[in-house]
Amino acid sequence: MNQNIWGIDLGGTKVEGAILQSASDPEVLFRDRVPTEGHKGYDHIVGQVKSVVDKMEAAVGYRPQKLGIATPGTLDPGLGLMKNSNSTSLNGKPLKADLERILGMEVRMANDANCFALAEASMGIAKEKYPNAKVVFGVIMGTGVGGGVVVDGKVINGLQGIGGEWGHNFLDESGGPCYCGKSGCVEKVLAGPSLEKYYASVSGQQKTLREVYDLYKAGTDPFAKQTMERMIHFFGLALSVVVNILDPDVIVIGGGVGNIDIIYTDGVVSLEKYIFNNRLDTPVLKPRLGDSAGVFGAAFLVA
Ligand SMILES: [Zn+2]
Repeated sequence: MNQNIWGIDLGGTKVEGAILQSASDPEVLFRDRVPTEGHKGYDHIVGQVKSVVDKMEAAVGYRPQKLGIATPGTLDPGLGLMKNSNSTSLNGKPLKADLERILGMEVRMANDANCFALAEASMGIAKEKYPNAKVVFGVIMGTGVGGGVVVDGKVINGLQGIGGEWGHNFLDESGGPCYCGKSGCVEKVLAGPSLEKYYASVSGQQKTLREVYDLYKAGTDPFAKQTMERMIHFFGLALSVVVNILDPDVIVIGGGVGNIDIIYTDGVVSLEKYIFNNRLDTPVLKPRLGDSAGVFGAAFLVA
């Protein structure tokens, strides 16, 4: 019996497809991508997904009954419409129904943070280091902040499709207004652009997060120190809310901000300070799959 699993990562710049051998042996059998060209509108994006699926079919000579798709934003489970997507032409559209009709197969969807968490739990760092982990929380701290909860190898999407979305919890008023309509969200404090904006506000200079971190390490720039210490403080505070509710077996941190090494030392100490326990046993890990997590996680949606 063919146990291949097919996944698509529908991203802002590319639509990527991958076929994995099986869930237990996730060797990559085929992989290809096309540009999303989202500016050409919703129908074009749907067509680009179809073109990737057609390439996958041509490569292996068959079409499966179902496939998984990682999407920016979430399918509202009640309405069947996309929401919260930064690829805004998807919002309000019945993407799952349209794809199922055009592709002639069952489509399972989850947002990119959920797919990241699923991939790292199923074939990434959590699987490698803690194969018996039941609950994995995957964090994305990049241009935005998202998260995904995986329990026993399954994504917890939630009643409203917002399971794991800690990025829009309230964190601190200093973050200012958020695109979501609220203010002081975790994302407005801890996303890469938010950290860069904070540095600019205190120093009067525009620098990338990487430059700010290098200045912090050099120990020569008080504003870099202030920015990084604030990040560490709020990282611990924001994540403590998740740990107190979920108490995951493993936390994996993805996205550009996750490349800041002090997250895994000072950040963990900060987290320990805020949780409802006298110590922190939770491993906080760097991911293993990089940009591939989305497409691999999508494939595991049908495992
Ligand atoms: Zn928000």
